Amino acid sequence: FIPLLLTSCQRTESQTSNNANQEIEQKVDSLLSVMTLEEKVGQMTQITYMVVEKQNAKGALDKDKLKEAIQKYHIGSILNVPEGTAPTRERWQEILEEIQTETNKSNLKIPVLFGIDAIHGSSYTQGATLFPQQIGMAATWNPELIKRGAQISAYETRASNIPWVFSPDLDLPRNPTWSRFWETFGEDTYLSSQMATAMVEGFQGDDISAPNNVAACVKHFLGYGSTTTGKDRTPSIIPERVLRQYDLPIHAAGAKAGAKTFMISSGEINGTPVHASKKLLTDVLKGELGFEGFVVSDWEDIIYLHNRHKVAATPKEAVKIGVMAGIDMSMVPNDFSFFNYLVELVNEGEVPMSRIDDAVSRILKVKLEVGLFEKPTWNTNDYSKFGSDEFIQEAYNTAAESITLLKNNDGLLPILKDAKILVTGPTANTMKSLNSGWTYNWQGENADKFAADKMTILEAFQDKLGTNNVLYSEGVSLTEEINIEKTVSLAKNADYILLCLGEQNYTETPGDISDLEITEPQIALAKALSKLNKPIILVLAEGRPRIISKFESEMDAVVHAYYPGNEGGRALVDIITGDVNPSGKIPFNYPRYTNALTKYNRKYTESREGVTGHNAYNPQWEFGHGLSYTTFEYSNLKLSSTEIKKGDTIDVSIDVTNTGSREGKEVVQLYLNDLFASITPEVKKLVGFEKISLNPNETKTVTLKITEESMSFVDNNLDWVSQDGTFKVMIADKEMEFELN
Ligand code: BGC
Repeated sequence: FIPLLLTSCQRTESQTSNNANQEIEQKVDSLLSVMTLEEKVGQMTQITYMVVEKQNAKGALDKDKLKEAIQKYHIGSILNVPEGTAPTRERWQEILEEIQTETNKSNLKIPVLFGIDAIHGSSYTQGATLFPQQIGMAATWNPELIKRGAQISAYETRASNIPWVFSPDLDLPRNPTWSRFWETFGEDTYLSSQMATAMVEGFQGDDISAPNNVAACVKHFLGYGSTTTGKDRTPSIIPERVLRQYDLPIHAAGAKAGAKTFMISSGEINGTPVHASKKLLTDVLKGELGFEGFVVSDWEDIIYLHNRHKVAATPKEAVKIGVMAGIDMSMVPNDFSFFNYLVELVNEGEVPMSRIDDAVSRILKVKLEVGLFEKPTWNTNDYSKFGSDEFIQEAYNTAAESITLLKNNDGLLPILKDAKILVTGPTANTMKSLNSGWTYNWQGENADKFAADKMTILEAFQDKLGTNNVLYSEGVSLTEEINIEKTVSLAKNADYILLCLGEQNYTETPGDISDLEITEPQIALAKALSKLNKPIILVLAEGRPRIISKFESEMDAVVHAYYPGNEGGRALVDIITGDVNPSGKIPFNYPRYTNALTKYNRKYTESREGVTGHNAYNPQWEFGHGLSYTTFEYSNLKLSSTEIKKGDTIDVSIDVTNTGSREGKEVVQLYLNDLFASITPEVKKLVGFEKISLNPNETKTVTLKITEESMSFVDNNLDWVSQDGTFKVMIADKEMEFELN
């Protein structure tokens, strides 16, 4: 009976979802059949909150402006909050109720889809649980943890009555000076893809209409992270072969995980602005990847086709190009120009109604799927877990698993708990260095105000070691020397120096830099302190790898915190005092020199093997590196076969033993090297990983798979191919070969 019962249950479930899909399609069709052109184009328009905000009354909605936006322009979406404010959950509820009450007065009562940059937690709502930024999430190498975090972010965003987040960021950063480096999962396609799947699944859950799930928005399709200059929103030169091999798979993973929306890159690739690329938006994204949700532009990017990229002679032509390329919704965001131009273009026969209907049906479908029509707000739901200890614990765990021990000379760490410690540096006593941008507002400068109840690094040390054992002197700011001499003399009374350097808060163009080297005053502080004969623990809280080679050799231990979020201070002190064993692994190469930015998965031709000096491949720390307070030994590497045919898979197994004296987590990383191929092969590339936990003396056998996909690359015909020959398998210090023929 049991199998039968199961089968009938399954059938019922899939029937239910088929029925739901059918119902949604019928509803979309029936709405489309009665919508006017203006109502349709309105759905394709997204404005920012500021357009409907009352002047001189921060946060309040202007009833007349809201009415105009909804009744006259029929706008489909609103994003963001006024600069400088982070509403409470209750305030969000009022805002959304006001908006949906207005839509309810409209002819078709189509609710507005509100979207927000909740990228490391519901980061625009006061009291929400804030996680590490994405670069730190990647450093955990723990997709399950990241998925749970996204579930919490979804819950808290819905608790704020918002059903749509502009996350995850699936850009592949090629130049670490880029101000959005930390918004990504780092430099590897495979790791980023695993994280992409986890995050999209976490946000959207099984049933996206449930009041604890949100629609994800994969961004920024495509090639945004490859700017040649390393500055935000500047052009990329990327051969299509490379784009398809390294960038596209991450976005494809997001699409495959079911992401409901995609946001488009503000950049241009090989001279074509992505917003104008019918090939990328319509043929690749909606065609090849089979993406059925809707595509939203980035900030003002349609008009920028005219006044920035200069591929459209007029703003109206820009609208035509963008919409015909495949943009379904325009983040205008400051006015209704898009609406007016698009109505004209359709009336003049320049944009066919079929394109409008396609865009609008995609948008309406997502609105119906997230359940907006039945429940435009969820104020009756129980959101008692919002900001709860249970959620905070998850954020703490994620921070603790992200923080990466890069260097630990002579086992300096963990420190003795009764020691005296001097805490210094510009990132030591601010929540801005734990959170960065998209935290309470765009640039994140209000973190100290809105996270006042959370602990900075300094406060976390004071809390744990007692104020008497913690000395503090700022030393320098990011830009100027403050009291280096005083700091040095204070350090004489300490057993350890905790030197907190790095960056504070920024994102996008305002965060661009010209010099990757850490700032001068910070170098001066490090050098001054290193003259003392005291152990120095360097803590880096920063969004991109700022070069530290001028003083790195003077540092006894180095810990990378990335931007670990509101619980990051606590997690860091627990690692440094040894209550938590570090298990993060760096998801990018940490460069040693500003102009030596080679990635770990380099070609043989990118460096001269076996040479030293400037022709050598010599990052400060390599992708995947991260130490523990225990030791792991790898043995018994085995392949299920050393000769395979195309289409076969190989199981790779290895024994990992904890040979140290304490429990620890290890990331087993599987790399592959295609010895010879028609396109110059990479020295190594990541094709699998698993994070395991081991007690002292415990051994676990880890089995990972090599698939056809792991062995493939994109050839000059733009096809994914694998070629016969020898492949080298590498895990830690062990390697073996197999033949594909
Ligand atoms: C950014 C996006 C963001 C959007 C909405 C843009 O400037 O590039 O990542 O989602 O603003 O705030």
